[in-house]
Amino acid sequence: SGRNSDQPRKKPRLSAPAGTSHASSSKDPSLQKQRKELPIYTGKDAIVDIIRQNDVTVLIGETGSGKTTQVPQYLLEAGLAGSGMIAVTQPRKVAATSLASRVAAEQGTSLGAVVGYSVRFDEASSADTRIKYVTDGMLVRELLGDPLLSRYSVVVVDEAHERTLRTDLLIANLKTIQKIRNVPTDAKGKGSAAKLMPLKVVIMSATLEAEKFSKFYNKAKIVYVKGRQHPVTIYHTSTGQPDYVDAALRTFFQIHTDKPKGDVLIFLPGQEDIESLDKSIQLYANQLPKDACGVLICPMYAALPPSQQAKIFSPAPSGMRKCILATNIAETSITIPGIKYVIDTGKCKEKRYVARQAGTGFDTLLTRDITQSSAVQRAGRAGREGSGFCFRLYTEDAFRNMPLTAEPEIRRCTLTSSLLQLKCLGQDLEELDFMDKPDEETVVSALKTLFLLGALDNRKALTPLGRQMAAFPLEPPLARTLIASTELGCTSDVLTILSVLSASSHLFVDTHDARDVAADARRKFRHPAGDHLTVLNVVRAYEDVTAGESKAGRREWCRRMFLNERCLSEAANIRAQLRDVCAHMGVDPRTGAGSGDREVPVLKALVRGLVQNTAFLQPDGSYKQVMGPSIVKIHPSSSLADKKVPVIIYDELIYTTQVYARGVSAVPRSFIAEVPVFQQRTG
Ligand code: ADP
Ligand code: MG
Repeated sequence: SGRNSDQPRKKPRLSAPAGTSHASSSKDPSLQKQRKELPIYTGKDAIVDIIRQNDVTVLIGETGSGKTTQVPQYLLEAGLAGSGMIAVTQPRKVAATSLASRVAAEQGTSLGAVVGYSVRFDEASSADTRIKYVTDGMLVRELLGDPLLSRYSVVVVDEAHERTLRTDLLIANLKTIQKIRNVPTDAKGKGSAAKLMPLKVVIMSATLEAEKFSKFYNKAKIVYVKGRQHPVTIYHTSTGQPDYVDAALRTFFQIHTDKPKGDVLIFLPGQEDIESLDKSIQLYANQLPKDACGVLICPMYAALPPSQQAKIFSPAPSGMRKCILATNIAETSITIPGIKYVIDTGKCKEKRYVARQAGTGFDTLLTRDITQSSAVQRAGRAGREGSGFCFRLYTEDAFRNMPLTAEPEIRRCTLTSSLLQLKCLGQDLEELDFMDKPDEETVVSALKTLFLLGALDNRKALTPLGRQMAAFPLEPPLARTLIASTELGCTSDVLTILSVLSASSHLFVDTHDARDVAADARRKFRHPAGDHLTVLNVVRAYEDVTAGESKAGRREWCRRMFLNERCLSEAANIRAQLRDVCAHMGVDPRTGAGSGDREVPVLKALVRGLVQNTAFLQPDGSYKQVMGPSIVKIHPSSSLADKKVPVIIYDELIYTTQVYARGVSAVPRSFIAEVPVFQQRTG
């Protein structure tokens, strides 16, 4: 339809043959038995009744009780979805895809038939789809093309306690949508909304902070699902453990050698720590006596490819102990069976807006202490099937000093992209009815960024350019770069670079031990202008290798070059999708492919989007932001790390002992002067 025309539309990747989708005969009896054994099953009828009778229901229940997988199926089976779809939102992409595949199996159909998912750069759904697991970000994006979410009759906001920015945006918008769609029948008859079926909202959460959600929705009904929690014995360390990865390693082997069978779940902050602990455990496990129990290591983090997720849920082979290394994804989103021991490092990664006082801050991922609520959830994972043990790698005092719950993301992250999306919906961030209001200063800084990118005019009104930017599934600065590339005739190359930047892992394998060896291996890709054009050289070389080599040959090539193949293959996939979006918007994605000089147009396009990420060389060799107060250094992984160039642009700042710019290119000063904002300033 016309109103959806600026929305990226993805073709369904998978679909089931027509007619098979509801065939209950194909449902696996053992899965049906498992469904009936879940704690939530006894409350099934009551839950369905309450949701039937109320516009909004808040459903609280312990992790693993069956909320996310069962409630949508109950609603579908009870006919509550009518002719519409049920959306179930998740803060994380991996959770959405993994849960969809489980529920599809329970329905006895292939993924993408009755049960599907939709996450950024990936979708499995079809005309038959009735239950769709989506990231909260994807549903916010759907609002842009369909402001009343007319395709859905039920929206389940899951993991609401995490209070991500997108979840908060949805919660606010769902309230408005219900006011329009859920008018009493006698008041209906006029306007287009009257034709829409009413919308049901179900808010689900594993923690007990239900009152706030209920209050926001005018005292919505709260339902509690009783869990089946067994006792968990908790140990604390007597002193702090700064090297938590090493402490986790030692604790794991103590459990492994001394304790009876049962799987171990270790909570770590991020992928790097997971990979490093994976290696160490492997190393020590190989030295165990031949007759000792083996160790099966299963990593679990956001960027883990779906092919590797399945083994997490299957039982360990006999004579093996499963050891799952997970981020906080295993805290409440995903329940792994068989866990008896939990090791909690007490750390997580959190997106946080830093340098906010200057109004030119940026989001960065910081490793930080968890909250008491997280610690309790983590320990709970050990007691799902029987009594268990939790080893906290921090002191009891440290636990008592933890904040009770985390601050909602809306209070601590950049609002640029959300503000742009709201503008497209004709809403103002300052005026929307939120559970928690965003900080004034963060709003001002988002307005400023959008103005600099040309998405808003000086009266804060959305420009046609801004609307175009919002249509791309990219952060506003990257969307701006892409649009600039169409004018500069280098879309093909810019798409390549943006795809690599949008992949969930870094292209260059960061090897602290072998940094020189890695740099040597990669030298031939190095472009004097810096990292963005170097990325382009790498992708071209990889494409040549892909054309001529087997899968194993490709892998070996990446290993020798210290490149992350997962990033390259994911980027190729993202690139294909961005090309589709371009084509849909009437932009020719092949512009500039194969032609001569790329450096100038590509850098100019990057400058347009990264205008706020510009810094000038200082006499002492550091760089000073042009539009902010920060002094930054070029990250050691950059191809420009030891060069001194007058002007740099960068993809992101990371915050360790000092502020580092990562993904850096050198640009001529004249390119900066060409950006309209700078012209206004000087001219
Ligand atoms: P809740 O949302 O209440 O935390 P879930 O509905 O996520 O509970 O989980 C219910 C059960 O489904 C759990 O026992 C979990 O182990 C199982 N489960 C979920 N996803 C999968 C999967 N991909 N494979 C196997 N079992 C799964
Ligand atoms: Mg759940």
